[in-house]
Amino acid sequence: MDEPEANGTTPPAAWREGWRQVVDTALRTVRDGLVVGTSGNVSLRVGDAVLVTPSGVPYDRLGPGDLCAVDLAGRRLAGELRPTSELPLHLAVHRRTTTAAAVVHTHALHATAVSTLVDELPAVHYQLATLGGPVRVAPYARYGSAELAAATLAALEGREACLLRNHGTVVLGADLDQAFERTAQLEWMCRLWLTAHSVHGLVPSLLTPAELADAAEALRDYGPRP
Ligand code: 13P
Ligand code: ZN
Repeated sequence: MDEPEANGTTPPAAWREGWRQVVDTALRTVRDGLVVGTSGNVSLRVGDAVLVTPSGVPYDRLGPGDLCAVDLAGRRLAGELRPTSELPLHLAVHRRTTTAAAVVHTHALHATAVSTLVDELPAVHYQLATLGGPVRVAPYARYGSAELAAATLAALEGREACLLRNHGTVVLGADLDQAFERTAQLEWMCRLWLTAHSVHGLVPSLLTPAELADAAEALRDYGPRP
């Protein structure tokens, strides 16, 4: 699986670099316990192409020669492996967004648990501001379905992330690092809420919309200065 491309043509350098990042990110989701086995999927938009993980292939078996690219209509541009079963969801998001280039879908344990309990993740932590506010739960629809893609788009309105009921997470990012980091933060916040919520007789305090907006403002200046 190490040849650049099975059909003999070499994909553009930007696709090859994007594919490296896609595989790297998919591997990180397994390594960090956000998925088990071949669950979850990852996509990255590069120009008019969308690079996606293939369906049901362990990520540690993917090499440069497995590059899987489709256009925004889902037509194959490169690769021979079958694209992820969640292609409708990934393409729906890429067709809609102008700011996000990356989509990470996982079955993270605590996030999936929360998806079975509430309609949105309560505002237990200011980090929610980085996701655009309280994260909604999209109603259940079968994996890979057009219904799930539509429900996901609706739940993502004005947000960078959503939960899929009885299924997992969908998180957007300007790049794969950001989408991955946000996924890890979302999973952590779900774990936080489950932990606080499960203390018998006590109810977790929540942030107000004004407090979240204030945190969002402050977070614009978060991080090291040049
Ligand atoms: P794929 O292996 O087809 O990407 O499916 C995994 C998954 O998480 C479906 O929701
Ligand atoms: Zn899934």
